[in-house]
Amino acid sequence: MAEEGALYASQPARTRGRRHTEPAAPTRDDFQRDRDRIVHSTAFRRLVYKTQVFLNHEGDLFRTRLTHSLEVAQLARSIARPLGLNEDLVEAIALAHDLGHTPFGHAGQDALNDCMAAHGGFEHNLQSLRVVDALEHRYPQFDGLNLCFETREGILKHCSRENALRLEAQEPGGVAHRFLHRQQPSLEAQLCNLADQIAYNAHDIDDGVRSGLLRIEALAEVALFERHRGEAAAEHPGLAGRRLLYETIRRMLSAQVYDVIDATRAALAAHAPADAEAVRRAPPLVQFSAAMRAQSVALKQFLFANLYRHPQVMQTTGQAQQAVRELFALYVREEGALPAAYAARQDRPRAVADYIAGMTDRYAMREHARLTGRAWPTA
Ligand code: MG
Repeated sequence: MAEEGALYASQPARTRGRRHTEPAAPTRDDFQRDRDRIVHSTAFRRLVYKTQVFLNHEGDLFRTRLTHSLEVAQLARSIARPLGLNEDLVEAIALAHDLGHTPFGHAGQDALNDCMAAHGGFEHNLQSLRVVDALEHRYPQFDGLNLCFETREGILKHCSRENALRLEAQEPGGVAHRFLHRQQPSLEAQLCNLADQIAYNAHDIDDGVRSGLLRIEALAEVALFERHRGEAAAEHPGLAGRRLLYETIRRMLSAQVYDVIDATRAALAAHAPADAEAVRRAPPLVQFSAAMRAQSVALKQFLFANLYRHPQVMQTTGQAQQAVRELFALYVREEGALPAAYAARQDRPRAVADYIAGMTDRYAMREHARLTGRAWPTA
């Protein structure tokens, strides 16, 4: 049964507020309003043409950052409701959690981080926060989306100590404070972090098999997959191919969702946080059971070795990194190649990083081809 509006849940009426004071919306609470602002943002629409493992042009059915974000929101809400957490906040964080991702997934991010090594580096979580705090230009009164503290805190999932110190100096006691004082974010933020992992572990199996890079037979070494594949096959004799794969993934997702609900309920009962503030001083409470955590780690390691490090993926990764490095060097050197708003900024390397990070895969490919005169792929 749902514990409606549990004491430990984040409450919109008790938000720590927005950076720029605004009148309340007549019919929506603050977390609903944040979710809606994210859905209407430009960065959110760009997620449809950004990818993580497979590039956007490699196939129409692979996950994009948009479908990934929707799947994270779905999983997180499924867990939030029975735990009595705030579903609107969960949805807002889930839909925004990847807004700062570069084109070309992790390859693009690593390349941009290298390019920015002498200028403060590049972290996608911090970039997601920059998008909602500064880079969206839609409202007359302020830059960014002016989201609530709780939404921004959930978006800044990780942060280096260096960046945390920088943020804390700009916003004392703000969203970076917890990284310097070893505190936890809200339960809603903790949940989105876990839902993110559950989502990509599952959909990368699906996309990996679809791409032909992963073989179902090889997945037999993954206990979490094999158990559910075996049970699905036993219950439905004759089930094979894609339908067996879908049924296996569906069961894996359900098992992880129920596991998180049970393990988190137990942790909440053990620590009994009196309110959302007490959650911050407790250890992480949204969690897998120890057994499921081990299985999830094993699945992640399998995907790492067999998919993310697959020679074909690595080749595309190399091309993407080269393209990002070349674009970066070009924009830093030739101000005329940048749109006026970015060219006008004094912090050229950061302006270039913001511009490149905002690109979709296909836009970055087109820009690279246009500016270098070389057709993609470059290698
Ligand atoms: Mg994600």
